[in-house]
Amino acid sequence: MAPNPLHALALLPLYFKRPMAADPLALSISSTFVDIEVAWLYIAGAPFSHGYWHSLSVAATLYPVLVTALVIVIERRCPQQAAWLFRALRWRGGEQRHTTKSIYLCALLGGVSHIFIDMWTHPESCYILWPFAVTSPNPFYLGQWAFAVEFAVLLSSIYAALLWYKAARE
Ligand SMILES: [Zn+2]
Repeated sequence: MAPNPLHALALLPLYFKRPMAADPLALSISSTFVDIEVAWLYIAGAPFSHGYWHSLSVAATLYPVLVTALVIVIERRCPQQAAWLFRALRWRGGEQRHTTKSIYLCALLGGVSHIFIDMWTHPESCYILWPFAVTSPNPFYLGQWAFAVEFAVLLSSIYAALLWYKAARE
């Protein structure tokens, strides 16, 4: 079970390698906000932690549209605050305006990658194939081999941290 921030960090090499094409805010929001559902279900007292949001169908359709709208509001309606945030995070070269298409593609990638990481590593993720099937236990769960997915996420996150450190010092 990759810790939530690693879902974002593991994708950020894309931004550090292609700052003009990849929007780091869209990647970060889309890959982490899926887990709002986990908090929501916990507060609601549900006996499981992954519901509809943790399905490929939502992650590939409605979710990236909502994230794209949110990112566009942040970056285009509040440009000063967005520029401040990018500077504070040392996301240089990310201040320029990303196209709606690149924001959408980053939001799509973030959401779908979150589900792909969770589907192999969370035994209780039963809504992956929703609305076609709700399968308990999660048939994609790799059991003890889940660590291989977590290790790949960790490696990509370490790579991102190194690129981030290098970019911040330039
Ligand atoms: Zn999740």
